[in-house]
Amino acid sequence: MNGPSLRCMNCGKACGSNAALYAQVFVCLTCHKMATSLEAGIQRELNGLMVVMRDRIREALVTGKCFYPEAKEAIAPSQKRDIVHALVDLMQKKGAAHEHSGDISDSVHTLQEDREH
Ligand SMILES: [Zn+2]
Repeated sequence: MNGPSLRCMNCGKACGSNAALYAQVFVCLTCHKMATSLEAGIQRELNGLMVVMRDRIREALVTGKCFYPEAKEAIAPSQKRDIVHALVDLMQKKGAAHEHSGDISDSVHTLQEDREH
């Protein structure tokens, strides 16, 4: 292909017409696919965390221990940081492994183990 070709902002490859935008970032289709698959993996993790959190709230409700201030403290701020760290770790692992597809049960399991320490 002749003429000026924009380069993927992630891998630097000349894209030609095989380019796309991910969150307003110009990338090649390969990097776009990687970004969307990372996003999908994180979405699955968040969904898994929601299940865990919902179960915790449910447990608090059925034992009569769900009060707004305590519930707020129970989730924030330390656990929020744990969740963010876990997601960052996950992203870095996935970034290094590229095509590795996320296994939600492993990651949620890891999160639960981390909280117990
Ligand atoms: Zn690229």
